[in-house]
Amino acid sequence: MKEVDEQDRPKEECGILGLYTPSGEAARLAFFGLFALQHRGQESAGIAVSDGETVRMHKEMGLVSQAFNEQILSELPGHLAIGHTRYSTTGASVLRNAQPIFCTSIVGEIAVAHNGNLLNAGQVRQKMIAEGERFDSTSDTEVMARLMVRHMDRGPENAVAATMREIEGAYSVAVLTPDRLIGFRDPNGVRPLVAGRVADGFMLASESCAFGPVDGHVERELEPGEMVIIDNLGMRYAQGAPPRRKAMCLFEYIYFARPDSHMGTTSLYAARERMGENLWKEHPVEADIVVPVPDSGVPAAHGLARASGLPFQEAMVKSRYIHRTFIVPDQRLRELGVRMKLTPMIDKIRGQRLILVDDSIVRATTTKQLVKMMFDAGAAEVHVRITAPPIQHPCFYGIDMSSKGELAAAQMSIEQIREHLGATTLGYLSIEGAVAATGGKPSQFCLACFNGDYPIPVPEDVTKSAFESPPEVGELATVKAH
Ligand code: SF4
Repeated sequence: MKEVDEQDRPKEECGILGLYTPSGEAARLAFFGLFALQHRGQESAGIAVSDGETVRMHKEMGLVSQAFNEQILSELPGHLAIGHTRYSTTGASVLRNAQPIFCTSIVGEIAVAHNGNLLNAGQVRQKMIAEGERFDSTSDTEVMARLMVRHMDRGPENAVAATMREIEGAYSVAVLTPDRLIGFRDPNGVRPLVAGRVADGFMLASESCAFGPVDGHVERELEPGEMVIIDNLGMRYAQGAPPRRKAMCLFEYIYFARPDSHMGTTSLYAARERMGENLWKEHPVEADIVVPVPDSGVPAAHGLARASGLPFQEAMVKSRYIHRTFIVPDQRLRELGVRMKLTPMIDKIRGQRLILVDDSIVRATTTKQLVKMMFDAGAAEVHVRITAPPIQHPCFYGIDMSSKGELAAAQMSIEQIREHLGATTLGYLSIEGAVAATGGKPSQFCLACFNGDYPIPVPEDVTKSAFESPPEVGELATVKAH
């Protein structure tokens, strides 16, 4: 069973945070912060806390609001906490794979929360099993946690640094020991991680938007390979592993991260507006109105409307109440799912030549239904404009696009996709146009899913499954939605 919401979009694997507050209310603050990271994962949520001696944890399947209540939070006393929201890309979606992952070490219990994907987790796991290690879950996070436990006799910071030397992949991680909190980022800095302050303490989180609900502010982004250590002595930075070429995920700017987050000094809302402006420059067309696909297409549609001089027009209403409606994932019910979620406003659409703006096309199933919905509502023309360049290659760094057979742009030409969608015209933003909108340079980003240039080498056993048995083009519409 899969949820209706965002069924044809790439899924972020996880959101993480860590908190230190002398008030002893770390779990409560973590709960509020996790709310702001809910978009990064809706399958499970967890918080681990320490009062200086004992690490306690609670995690559940479901949303943050479903996993926690007043009673549960009151049973999590402590001044240190880490939190996690999960969408599974490796390891099944079951409670034992939910995070944080809990292990016993020489310094006491430790808890680990991870966003990303380890590329050598299978190999390391097999080696550790051969050496007698036992695993409770199938997640790559437990591999990382048990490696740390093995090195913990050298102290938590050294254990983290030693673990970073043994793992390969994309990772931003929060570790809780009885007396400290450590955050660290992979040597290429693929997944985001920022550190900053709350009123009387310190915080780290996947995104700056988590700081708002706890009245905190970001100090800075962690550099590739950097770690931040937070304890009673304060907050300090150290280099855990030598940095490699910076390769921040461009998709964070296009879609994953919340529009009110900042990456570096860049406002993501403003970057997405500029993507819309660039989309117009690259693909102008005669039309009457600019229509966003809510909510993710809104900033780019504003930018495109501004650049084109055409009116911005909301033409679909998004239901707020079906976020976690589970349905049997057959094609007919998936189509109903889109209709339950988005309702067209016929009087805004009838007779109009509209530019429909969205962030990405993965399998093309949802976009196809939206185009049909617009024509069924009486649109004269539907010009689809997409801010993500065509996704032609799988992601191995923690985003749920690991099979080439599921990617429309890997199977069809742009013209074939247009035809498949039933759109009047189709225009994707170029890689150059998307990068320019961030204010950065192509060399700072991972662009692998767009151009096949993988900044972290992907082992053959990991790539193999991604290229096996691609479905026929005609099957794309019925590929299982994630
Ligand atoms: S391959 Fe694409 S989605 Fe994956 S990390 Fe790179 S830019 Fe992001």
